[in-house]
Amino acid sequence: MLFRTHLVFSLALYFFLIWILEVPNKLLFLIFILFATIFVDIDTKKSKFGKKWFFRPLQLFLNHRGMVHSIFFASLLSLIVGSFNLWAGFGFFVGYVSHLFIDGLTKSGVAFLWPLTKKKFGFGIKTGGIFEEVIFVLLLLGNIFLVGKGVFNYLF
Ligand SMILES: [Zn+2]
Repeated sequence: MLFRTHLVFSLALYFFLIWILEVPNKLLFLIFILFATIFVDIDTKKSKFGKKWFFRPLQLFLNHRGMVHSIFFASLLSLIVGSFNLWAGFGFFVGYVSHLFIDGLTKSGVAFLWPLTKKKFGFGIKTGGIFEEVIFVLLLLGNIFLVGKGVFNYLF
């Protein structure tokens, strides 16, 4: 899916989570959510982050939407981040899994269950197609709604 769709979905999760949870350091939490969302596409040179030249050697070994796009890998990296700071680790996990979920809506799918299976599970949405645009707009509206909720909470 497109970078901006990943971004709005992660943001929606962020707004939702800070609405229902007592997050001590919201900025740190947000940074790690966004960082993870962007990080996952390190396995493709077609992504915003992955197009940096220094990822090229790594990409020789990585299958796009393979190992890096798995729950196992998400958990492993989140545990490492979380061993430094629990909320950073949780934010990293949220951002990571949000990326996997959104990619999982696409036709090509994602190898969620690696290393159990290399099979990619997907739905049927075309990246950049009309349905992605619909999802994008709905998420954008969801964000506006949740920001509104947050403002409401601060006022009363
Ligand atoms: Zn991806």
